[in-house]
Amino acid sequence: MNIEEDLTGPHDDEQQKGRKEVMSYDFLVVGAGLYGAVFAHEARKAGKSVLVIDRRPQIAGNVYTEKIEGIHVHKYGAHIFHTNRTDVWNYISQFATFNRFTNSPVANYRGELYSLPFNMYTFNRMWGVVTPEEAAAKIEEQRREAGITSPKNLEEQAISLVGTDIYEKLIKGYTEKQWGRPCTELPAFIIRRLPVRLTFDNNYFNALYQGIPVGGYTRMVAAMLDGIEVRLNEDYLKNRSAWDAMADHIIYTGAIDAYFDFCLGALEYRSVRFETEVLDKPNFQGNAAVNYTDSETPWTRIIEHKWFEFGKDENGNDLPKTVISREYSSEWKPGDEPYYPVNDEKNSRLYAKYREMAEKEKKVVFGGRLGEYKYYDMDAVIAAALEKAEVML
Ligand code: UDP
Repeated sequence: MNIEEDLTGPHDDEQQKGRKEVMSYDFLVVGAGLYGAVFAHEARKAGKSVLVIDRRPQIAGNVYTEKIEGIHVHKYGAHIFHTNRTDVWNYISQFATFNRFTNSPVANYRGELYSLPFNMYTFNRMWGVVTPEEAAAKIEEQRREAGITSPKNLEEQAISLVGTDIYEKLIKGYTEKQWGRPCTELPAFIIRRLPVRLTFDNNYFNALYQGIPVGGYTRMVAAMLDGIEVRLNEDYLKNRSAWDAMADHIIYTGAIDAYFDFCLGALEYRSVRFETEVLDKPNFQGNAAVNYTDSETPWTRIIEHKWFEFGKDENGNDLPKTVISREYSSEWKPGDEPYYPVNDEKNSRLYAKYREMAEKEKKVVFGGRLGEYKYYDMDAVIAAALEKAEVML
């Protein structure tokens, strides 16, 4: 793909025609998201022939960004790159320059604003405590009252990490809207994604490296796919045998249950609906992310995209308008976009069975969030694709 071209449009016709005649590739990569783009890049670098297809009209999977009013809008949900892995950071930095954005979401609970993640600012606002000792004592007191020794689900895990008040105001409503299930039926690991610290530090991620690619994620993924044939609006599952005949190996990054025609039943996902609005004002909420943690507000959070890039255009000028997206979480049903795998016990058991079937597909590698049914962060997806490439190439 030539990155100077329209990032969503068709590619050089002559090049396409020449390649179509070959009709045989070492690798067919199904899905032009992060996993697929990293793998494709590595395969090409190793001298392999690669074809990437995607059923969407554009590349970049769910990290796709689109420019509206000079603002890179995260069309499929906000993505903030963060990693502790120097190798992954160095790798991704080949394809983009990252700005120094630091994620510090604000929680809005019925008009009360709290700092996230849970830190001394949050504890001070919640309880009026001033020192780390006072905060720790408060959490310990609430944990003891709740009588939790070894947390078995998200609710118990949350209370044992931050106490009942924070659980009730900042976790319960948000989590139940987000997952559509009671916290007592959700796995504890989901809440362990969030740091808890007894310092005045609103940086959401405990990561060595963090930022947003300057110029947007779409451009970054286009750089990964530079020189690789990409065909858009192509649905692998609708014409599987023809695609299979074109390559020695398939890297499949779609949903694993869809690959097997849902023969053992459908895995559950959460889907997200975004209501995106352009506002004729420079500043709506003063922060990239505000989470609505009560149970009454129908959306989970509002993203104000310009603040991922400090509200400036490429020349450093203030942008006069703003673009916001309200996020509504819903249960996935056929036809919706699957976003978050529901990694509870029932679904994990079903996934294990699909996984067994997948092992028998010798020609196919299942990768990425949908292919592995895993709540993956971007850096872990990149690391997984690089590891797979190293083994296979
Ligand atoms: N969470 C919460 N309150 C918040 C933010 C997050 O209770 O204000 C919980 C919720 O269960 C969520 C989980 O923490 O599913 C992980 O949040 P994260 O921000 O990592 O989710 P993502 O950005 O991947 O949607």
